[in-house]
Amino acid sequence: MELYHGNFVTSSSIEKLESCTDSYLAVENGVIAGIYPCLPETLRGAPVVELGEDVLIPAFSDLHVHAPQYPQRGLAMDELLHDWLEKHTFPLEARFADLDYARHVYDAFTDEMLARGTMHAVVFGTVHTPATLYLLERMEQKGMLGYVGKVNMDTDSPDSLRESCAGSLAETERFLDACSDSRNVRPILTPRFAPTCTWELLCALGRLTQKYGVGVQTHLVESFWEAAEARRRFPHCSCDTEIYERAGLLDGACVVGAHFIFPSEEDIHILLRHNGFAVQCPDATVSVIAGIMRAGALADRGVRLALGTDLGAGHNLGVYSQVGRAVQLSKLKAFYEPDGNRAISFAQAFYMATRGGGSLFGKVGALEPGYRFDALRLGGLADAYENLSPVQIVERFCYLGDKSHIRARYLAGRRLD
Ligand SMILES: [Zn+2]
Repeated sequence: MELYHGNFVTSSSIEKLESCTDSYLAVENGVIAGIYPCLPETLRGAPVVELGEDVLIPAFSDLHVHAPQYPQRGLAMDELLHDWLEKHTFPLEARFADLDYARHVYDAFTDEMLARGTMHAVVFGTVHTPATLYLLERMEQKGMLGYVGKVNMDTDSPDSLRESCAGSLAETERFLDACSDSRNVRPILTPRFAPTCTWELLCALGRLTQKYGVGVQTHLVESFWEAAEARRRFPHCSCDTEIYERAGLLDGACVVGAHFIFPSEEDIHILLRHNGFAVQCPDATVSVIAGIMRAGALADRGVRLALGTDLGAGHNLGVYSQVGRAVQLSKLKAFYEPDGNRAISFAQAFYMATRGGGSLFGKVGALEPGYRFDALRLGGLADAYENLSPVQIVERFCYLGDKSHIRARYLAGRRLD
């Protein structure tokens, strides 16, 4: 049993941030055993970590991130999606045929994600099976929780990445078989998006959801171009999300749709029907996708929302930075398109990055008894001449914090170096 004494902040619901001050948090076998306003007699004598003025918060969950795009973060941000993919991203992803190169990038990517406080993630690899397996194993070794996908693309893709339908399917099964023993980081089907997949491939992948019990991640209603292109290629479907539903891809363990910026009513109904996540990636949608999710309206409809960095379309691998940005964008959306839109609170955005997104992985993303002790100790954010509340410390971190403000990281109860 270990004890932490001080101030803790966690989401208790989508609109409520709870703050415990001068309290004790007990951890046993990596799981939070209790939170107490006073130290119980039975716990006297247990080692105590004194937090002082620092604040303990749950670790973050990033539900949409591209590990192979780590080398291009912060570059070519003046392009829009189609050109950005063709000129920069696809040539970079082709390099992951080289496993040595992939190892260097994925080691750095995983370390940096943990350094920035993300302990749970849903990650795109590339079409390459060996490199993507390495990424999954690396995250598993580090003790993270996650889903990693080998990307599928069998049409309208550059020669260096385009697979045959049969080849894509065979490699996907090879990938799924190879990581059947992985406990904490699981494989997930990853059709890149509708414009780069044939109907035949999507249906074949849909059959794998049943055979292997896996979920799916993809880009969903990502941009005007992507949604229009999807409808043009699949005219028998009324919207982007229906393509995946008809292909059987939404019947697996989970559904994670990135962006969901311009959903039709039908898109929303289908996502709700499958209890899927819509993942807002604020920096990315400003930089290369150019649209703003209606996060307030979708939350009011009951859609499960989370945040993602979408590195490298987003430039910051710390998903905490997307909390503040999501609030900013929702205010812009409500200002310019007031009809049916509302600004979201800081509490809602923080929930999306912690408890909301974390619910995909089990009991993580909150400081509550029964939850895994994946937590961050924040410090160095207060002013000497002003008292800030613990919630204000957390808010400031999400707007202008850096990894230097994360003074300690605890993963399943173990302090990381
Ligand atoms: Zn993406």
